[in-house]
Amino acid sequence: MSQAGWQVDPESGWLVESQTIGFQVRWRLLRLLHHERSPYQDIVVAELDRFGRALFLDRILQVAEMDEFIYHEMLVHVPLAALPAARRVLIIGGGDGGTLREVTRWPDVEEIHLVELDEAVVRVCRQWLPQVGDGAWDDPRLKIHYADGYAFLQEAPAGTYDAILVDCSDPGTPADTLYSETFYRLADRALAPGGFLVQQALSPFIHRDVLAAILRRLAGVFSQSGVYFCPSIAYLIGLQAFVWGSKGTNPAAGPARPAPGGTRWYTPEVHRAAFIVPPALENLQSAT
Ligand code: SAM
Repeated sequence: MSQAGWQVDPESGWLVESQTIGFQVRWRLLRLLHHERSPYQDIVVAELDRFGRALFLDRILQVAEMDEFIYHEMLVHVPLAALPAARRVLIIGGGDGGTLREVTRWPDVEEIHLVELDEAVVRVCRQWLPQVGDGAWDDPRLKIHYADGYAFLQEAPAGTYDAILVDCSDPGTPADTLYSETFYRLADRALAPGGFLVQQALSPFIHRDVLAAILRRLAGVFSQSGVYFCPSIAYLIGLQAFVWGSKGTNPAAGPARPAPGGTRWYTPEVHRAAFIVPPALENLQSAT
């Protein structure tokens, strides 16, 4: 459990993010909206210049109003549009509500299970980032489980979910076990035939070695697996990688059906383009 508290530079008054690999970010803070320490992590919601309201966990930015729709639309609509139908969807993490909001746009989804470790994240985001969840918290198809995603899958009946969307924090946080091979085996067991796992997997440039190891684990478990990308503005990593493992459906082939209207980033063309791998990012799996 991390003890990292929030930190403001006393001279500039800027909010200081925790150090990541090779760089540290300072945000021009317009207003601190909320700060608390849960049993799992330090939680801050702040209003930032340009980026809008943002959630920080243990001093690492998780969601910013400015660009969260890109990440959430790509995490949800790529797998759901690639499937001919999706009745049961499991979200692991996602306590800010953005992934949930996008899943609720699909009328054929009958059950949404959201497994979030930290009740405080949901409570804080519902109060301070209501536009991210955008009413989805009241969707009658939703069941929230406050639990560890790994432990939840250990108990999940086999063949249950059409899609498992892992919207968790990075490795090295309470989400560490959600990147393990045994977790992917549990997910494979819990998926229905043809089903999908999709997970946020950092940056193909800055965390190339971590991403390579994740891809190798997925390839060892799923019959088909791979990576796709979207732009990342607030994470300041250029490209956000998503990894996927599936029991038959290949999302790189493009959407099998239209996504709901009203998306601001996702289109069928954007879906297909997300799987294009430029030469610099080829053979990611073999990076060390
Ligand atoms: N989009 C974000 C990113 O890329 O960093 C993830 C945002 S979402 C707020 C991450 C959530 O994962 C947090 O609310 C955290 O509490 C939750 N989480 C971390 N470890 C978890 C676990 N083992 N089981 C379930 N949820 C977990």
